[in-house]
This record gives sequence, C-alpha cells and structure tokens, in this order.
Amino acid sequence: MNSDKATAPTIALSDIDLSLGRGAARVHVLRGISLSVAAGEAVGLVGPSGSGKSTLLMVMAGLERPDAGRIVVEGTDLGTLDEDALARFRGRRIGIVFQAFHLVPTMTALENVALPLELADKPDAYRRAQAELEAVGLGHRLHHYPAQLSGGEQQRVAIARAIVPDPAILVADEPTGNLDEATGRQIVELLFALKRDRGATLVLVTHDPGLARLCDRTVRLRSGRVEEPVPVRA
Ligand code: ADP
Ligand code: MG
Repeated sequence: MNSDKATAPTIALSDIDLSLGRGAARVHVLRGISLSVAAGEAVGLVGPSGSGKSTLLMVMAGLERPDAGRIVVEGTDLGTLDEDALARFRGRRIGIVFQAFHLVPTMTALENVALPLELADKPDAYRRAQAELEAVGLGHRLHHYPAQLSGGEQQRVAIARAIVPDPAILVADEPTGNLDEATGRQIVELLFALKRDRGATLVLVTHDPGLARLCDRTVRLRSGRVEEPVPVRA
C-alpha cells in the first residue's frame, strides 16, 4: 500500500483483553497485552503455567477473538474479518503447531499434510504434501497413520502440515513439550530452518531454556500481562 508496510511489524497486538469460561469459572486470562513481532523474527513466549501463553498464541493466530484490543497481522486487522475470511487468511498466512500434534487419526501422514491444500482447492495437494514430508525427513512414512508413528514423527507431520501452504508466520505451542530431548532438538532445528531458509516469522511458546535462547527475543507473561524486563543499568 505504502512504504510503511515494509517496515510495519508482521504481528501487532494492542491492548488485548480476554476472559474465558462462565460464571464462577470465568478467568480474566489476558489483561491489556501489547506486543509487536517483526518480519523474520523468532520470539519465545515464556512464563509460568497458567500465565496465558497458549491463549495469547491462539489470539495471535486468529483462533480466538479477544474481548477488546486490536490484532493486525501483515497489515490486516483481524477484527474486520468475518469467520470465513478469517479462516482463509489463517490458512494462507499462519501455520499453527500444537503441543499434542492434533493430527487427524483416520488419515495417513500424507493425507494429513495434504488436507490444508485440499481445503484451499490446490490441484497439486498430494505432490506438495509429499515434498514437505520428505523435507522433514518422513519420505518413508507417507502412508502411516498417526498411531503408527512416534511422537517425534507425529510432530514432524504436524509441522509439515503447518508449513505446506508456505505461511509467513508459524506459531507453535510447546512444540517440544511432549518429546524427548534428542527428538526435541530435531524439531527445533526444523523450526529454525524455516526462519533461515524461508524468512518465516516464528512465535514459540516454550518452557525449554535452550529453545528460548535460540530466539531473537523472549517475551515473559505473568498473570495475563507482559512482564517488562528489568532494565540493566550501565
Ligand atoms: P499457559 O499456556 O500459560 O499455561 P493458558 O493460556 O492455557 O496458560 O491459560 C491461562 C489461564 O486461563 C489459566 O488459568 C487457565 O485455567 C485459564 N483458561 C484457559 N482457557 C480457559 C477456558 N476455556 N475457560 C476458563 N479458563 C480458561
Ligand atoms: Mg499452555
């Protein structure tokens, strides 16, 4: 649109507020969160359990609408999109990886990865899905079902599914949380290769200090707020 767009943040959240649950179980989960993520940046979201990390990730990915505040992703205000437009936008621009993989159990690895392309009516869904599975080292597991795969293999299928539409942004919720250390390292390598090779923007929720250190920056949540870093005096 104009030259601002090139330098504008890829993700800009301002004054995000969200409560979840009903009645006595209602929780004020996000309390005035403002946060910007630059294009190609890797941000680690850290903080204690229950501080709102997963919820914030869902808000950034357009899976959860806040009660108040604005989410602008690549110049689009998500609040202006209806459900269909939001789903299309997400499908094209944002890849999402969950801690518990969330694969379709009745579909093979290949079918799982082809699914987002098929939903977007891409004619070459299976060819691209196969290429993506080969890229994550699973060319020999195309026709296996999730239950026939190890945790690390399932997470690689989930990553292949998230990145097959070539999203600009990848958000991942504790992507190594259910994996052993060695498998976790492979997954981390895969995520950062996306940033390096495709210029993807990464937002990663993690409890793993090793993974947090690899990020360009960490943002710490506490009780639904961004905890400001303590300034270091010169
Ligand atoms: P984190 O990922 O940092 O552990 P979450 O974002 O999952 O935190 O949750 C933050 C808080 O919001 C927790 O106290 C949780 O119990 C509460 N919460 C999350 N989802 C719901 C929901 N659907 N209904 C009620 N409370 C919820
Ligand atoms: Mg969580």
